[in-house]
Amino acid sequence: MTGHPQTLRPFLSRAARLYPDRELVARTADGVVRYTYAKYANRVGRLASALRAAGIDRGDHVATMCWNHDHHAEAYYAVPNLGAALHTINPLLPADDVRTIVAEAADRIILVDASLAGALTEAYDPDAFESVELTVVVGGEVPDLPVDAVGIDAFVTGHDPAPDYPDLGGDDAAGLCYTSGTTGAPKGVRYTQRMLWSHTMAILTPAGLDISHHDTVMPVVPMFHINAWGLPYAATAAGAAQVYPGPSPDPADLVTLIEDEGVTLTAGVPTVWLGVLDYLEDHDADLSTLERIVVGGAAPPERLIRAFDDRGVEVVHGWGMTETAPVGAVSHLKPELRDAGYETRLDSRLKQGLILPGLEFRAVDDDGSEVPHDGESMGELLVRGPWVTTSYYGRNDDDEAFEGSWLRTGDVVTVDGNGYVELVDRAADVINSGGEWISSQSVENAIMGDGRVREAAVVGIPHDRWGERPVAYVVTDADERESLIDAAAERVREAYPDWWVPDRFEFVESIPKTATGKFDKVGLRAGFEGSLDGSVDAEPPGEG
Ligand code: AMP
Repeated sequence: MTGHPQTLRPFLSRAARLYPDRELVARTADGVVRYTYAKYANRVGRLASALRAAGIDRGDHVATMCWNHDHHAEAYYAVPNLGAALHTINPLLPADDVRTIVAEAADRIILVDASLAGALTEAYDPDAFESVELTVVVGGEVPDLPVDAVGIDAFVTGHDPAPDYPDLGGDDAAGLCYTSGTTGAPKGVRYTQRMLWSHTMAILTPAGLDISHHDTVMPVVPMFHINAWGLPYAATAAGAAQVYPGPSPDPADLVTLIEDEGVTLTAGVPTVWLGVLDYLEDHDADLSTLERIVVGGAAPPERLIRAFDDRGVEVVHGWGMTETAPVGAVSHLKPELRDAGYETRLDSRLKQGLILPGLEFRAVDDDGSEVPHDGESMGELLVRGPWVTTSYYGRNDDDEAFEGSWLRTGDVVTVDGNGYVELVDRAADVINSGGEWISSQSVENAIMGDGRVREAAVVGIPHDRWGERPVAYVVTDADERESLIDAAAERVREAYPDWWVPDRFEFVESIPKTATGKFDKVGLRAGFEGSLDGSVDAEPPGEG
């Protein structure tokens, strides 16, 4: 006896039957859209029928390049319900990366926001996009695109809202998400139905994010970033109302949605909530319905947790990665800590948390031996479980990120006596700015493209608002430093998003090296003097 397979479809069909009148609400360029779960299921069905009529079948890849809204939420079920993988493309990636991942994923159809057509056009290359047969445009008129394009209404009109979905198994495809990773080239993680099903069940529990039909859930974390942390699936499974904040929401938009829709649970990277806190300093707001803010992707500053505690809103700190679908740990207080003083409780809440039920973990030293759980000994975190990937899409299984079924996270952690995992460093040196990665190596290479630069090393320096910002250390014989900085910034800007330009350029005699001749980035970071609290010319996206 095996039971019926774990697939995503029953989450939605149950919600449509048991909570037909609960609402899904989205902020769009044309105002707020709202409809019921009954209609949600119909719209998902119609989109799935249209995709099937366009030839999409089990194992195919359908991509999205979209913000958080109703059409994206529909694709979240329509594509996996066909046994195809929903490939959520991050439109903030450099165009080169988008090109690489579309080519590797061999996407057949891309759903694109009208407002993101420019990003798609910029990434377009006839070879890389050879597999792409059609783009379906949502949220606006169909713009000029380099691939055949059709508007969403024309695409779905006349299609059956209640199709006979294929019988799927747990191993059928459901999702695909690329991580910028630590070594430059993006790596794809393909999620099966079973992986996303088990992740959903885990985050529904009190040990996870404790989501129920009492909740109104607003994922601010982008739906192009690891399935918006799984919230669209979990909210549907729970029968919770859902609120999607649409394109580029600012703090005022988020606060208005919380007030108008009675949001109880929301989620996003710390930068988003720091922005909301700044906004709340000067504006009155009624956050009385808001119970929890899930924060992850980067460590939340202490002042964030304290400030929301003062407002009666619990900041729930979680840890995860693309490879873990993503939630792997949540920092809930154990019973023995509940009665401890505020500062002791805060110490635990600031840690990345307790590994979720269903997962196994180890923190190991260089020899592979488990380090003691003393809160001091550091080791690399290894995890495994039903929603943790064991390979990268299209790559050999012998990637050094895996040891059998164990994922080597690349995160260096301590584990304390209570079992709380604390992330102390990243094994690699990517810079996490506003929840999005900046590849330090790419920025270095761009700067070193200037013949006057002898060496350049780029490191992430802690920044109160963005988590980290890049600082470049430059060795040059040239005297004209201002013009060199301008030229270097221009080179970075030509190849990458504006917010990859370092906040500061430090001129040094030489870059310290490690024993193996590599830049000593740990030393550079430790030796950085001053603080990075100035504003950034081009702000990082800060959503995820
Ligand atoms: P990504 O796959 O792009 O989401 O990146 C995953 C990485 O983000 C993890 O390996 C961590 O290094 C970092 N990360 C995720 N959550 C946290 C957190 N709560 N605190 C600090 N770093 C985090």
